[in-house]
Order: sequence, then C-alpha cells, then structure tokens
Amino acid sequence: MTIEMPPHWRAVLDRIRNWSLANSPWLVHYNSGSCNGCDIEILATLTPRYDLERLGIKLQGSPRHADVLVCTGPVTRQSRDRLRRIYEQIPEPKFVIAVGACSISGGAFRGCYNILGGVDEVIPVDVYVPGCAPRPEAIINGVAILLKKLQPDRAAEIDRLLVEAGGASMVVSQKEVGDDAYAEPFVAR
Ligand code: SF4
Repeated sequence: MTIEMPPHWRAVLDRIRNWSLANSPWLVHYNSGSCNGCDIEILATLTPRYDLERLGIKLQGSPRHADVLVCTGPVTRQSRDRLRRIYEQIPEPKFVIAVGACSISGGAFRGCYNILGGVDEVIPVDVYVPGCAPRPEAIINGVAILLKKLQPDRAAEIDRLLVEAGGASMVVSQKEVGDDAYAEPFVAR
C-alpha cells in the first residue's frame, strides 16, 4: 500500500531518512562463497580492538533492517540466487561493499567450475575493499569511504575517527585493483 502525502512532507521524511542512514548505517553480512578468511577480518573489525561502532555502524541479522550489504567471497552458482534475494530484501536506499579479492574478481577461485566471479556479476557494488584477506583497517577505510560519499560535509570528522580507529596505519599502494592484496579501497565508477 502506498501512502499519499504532500511533497514537502515527503521531502522532510527523505531528509530524516538520509540523515539517519548516514549517521548510523546498519550492516548485514553475507558470505557468497568465501574461504572464511575475510569473514574473520570482518569480525575483528567489529570487536573491541577496532570497534567499527565508533563510526555509528551496527551489524544486525535481517536484510529487511539493513542499509548496507557487506559481501565476502566469490559468488558460487549455489549462492547466486540467495545473494540476489538478500539484496532485494534490503530497503532503498541500499549500498553494497565487496570485501576481499574474491568478491571483486573471484580471486583465488576465479575460473573454477562452480564460480560465477565477483559480486558485481550479480548485484551492483558501491565500494570495493581489495586484499586477501583485507586487514580490518582496510575494511574500516572502505566503510568510511561509503560514509563520506553519503555525507560529504562530515568528511573531516569521519577522517578523524578513521585515524583513531587505526586507518592511518593501513598499508596502501596505488595499483590496478584486482587480486592486489594491498590496494586501497575504491568506489565504483
Ligand atoms: S580474498 Fe582471500 S581470505 Fe578472502 S575469501 Fe578470498 S581467498 Fe579467502
């Protein structure tokens, strides 16, 4: 059922929704075929040593309550439909972060008979975090890139929080991204 409302009310509601999304995005995590290496790094990112919640971010279980899908691993033929279904269950506006070389290109599993390739073979991806597995600092940096995209006027504050979270110690080199374990997170063109 669609509720009709005056345009100015719609605009106000959209502003509130975008403000809350940018200040406290909720993540849902899906492993579409990972070896679990990237998943362990995501867990490390959320636990007190790195504490992603300091950026206002929360991991929770249902795609219906999530804003951001964090996906690890290549996409196997068996998980393709589940990945698409989870993505479709996330309400708009929604975003996708692909974590790890496998989620970008298939990585170590590329060319296997049961592998379709990276996540963007199935759903659109907003930010790619290279690495095998990416360090927690790189994952935090990828999330921060997404937050800055959503809220450009908060970029300086997010950068400060990122440094506090250890992002400044991230090993980076600007190379063509594919299976490169040390490239910087980057935003989809
Ligand atoms: S990128 Fe590396 S750690 Fe992550 S799923 Fe692929 S092989 Fe495993």
